[in-house]
Amino acid sequence: MKTALVCGAGGFIGSHMVKRLKREGFWVRGVDLKFPEFAETQADDFAQGDLRDAHFCSHVIDRRFDEIYQFAADMGGAGYLFTGDNDADVMHNSAMINLNVLEACRKRNNKRIFYSSSACVYPEYNQEDPGDPTTAEDTVYPAQPDSDYGWEKLFSERLYLAYHRNHNMEVRVARYHNIFGPEGSWNDGKEKAPAAFCRKIAEAEDGGEIEMWGDGLQTRSFMFVDECLEATVRFVRSDWAGPVNIGSEEMVSINELAQMVMDIAGKQLSIKHIPGPLGVRGRNSDNNLYEKILGWRASVSLRKGLEVTYPWIEAQVKSLAEQ
Ligand code: NAD
Repeated sequence: MKTALVCGAGGFIGSHMVKRLKREGFWVRGVDLKFPEFAETQADDFAQGDLRDAHFCSHVIDRRFDEIYQFAADMGGAGYLFTGDNDADVMHNSAMINLNVLEACRKRNNKRIFYSSSACVYPEYNQEDPGDPTTAEDTVYPAQPDSDYGWEKLFSERLYLAYHRNHNMEVRVARYHNIFGPEGSWNDGKEKAPAAFCRKIAEAEDGGEIEMWGDGLQTRSFMFVDECLEATVRFVRSDWAGPVNIGSEEMVSINELAQMVMDIAGKQLSIKHIPGPLGVRGRNSDNNLYEKILGWRASVSLRKGLEVTYPWIEAQVKSLAEQ
């Protein structure tokens, strides 16, 4: 039986990855500070603990796994990463996790390890035009990420690639672009735009109003979690280290995103634009490299993904209101 370790298995993408690997027949060990919040873990073994602690890392990485997925990070949406209030924690915590996990993997002769970097590594100067942002993989230098979260991701990418060169480890580094879906943060201050709008729209009365940070003309693309998992496992099982973008190329403005959720909810609401943390002006995933090397392309539309995500968040809103 194949074995996998999923670090960050209590979080959004990690908990979905555990389910995916179980469906494929893997024996899975999950590791996280916390158990998944919205469904019981499907991991065969779940170790609750802190990957900033090197002893805990060696305890959970006590053997050779066929595949290791490293999703654990101190992260959140714009309200968490772009205010500046959490920068020291974000950099310290995530760098510690990556340093410890990689070293524990090296000691146990683990070879294949996936690292989830982020589109936030790309330089701000290439993402000022909301209609024409650039995120081709080789445009990451000269580096100028717009957040310390992005700088830590860039450091850790380099760390994984250095272990690849110096210790012969088969690392796989991907840059995720806004992944969304059910069973992710939706009201804890770490939620990202799709979950935040689903929540606001589910809470609002038809004909009412929702708030939006900025003018809503900033652009992004969003990838449904199932597609992200598919793209990730195909990449992990390839013979290519990356870094590579994993995201959708369906770029929309934040106004269009909110309108799409309103259509799905069957509500028409007015939007009140207010100041708030925003990030870059425009961003879209450039999938040319992924498609060229792996011959696979993402195809689930934003609307289809939201049609699954909105009802899940609406149910969360209702169940909280009933408590
Ligand atoms: P998440 O916050 O839901 O999951 C991260 C998990 O890591 C959490 O469950 C958290 O408890 C755990 N964790 C944090 N510190 C830990 C520690 N010290 N020890 C053990 N566990 C710890 O985030 P997610 O959306 O599932 O993202 C997974 C990964 O993908 C992260 O590395 C993130 O930076 C990256 N990423 C995500 C997106 C996205 O849109 N969701 C985009 C780009 C990159």
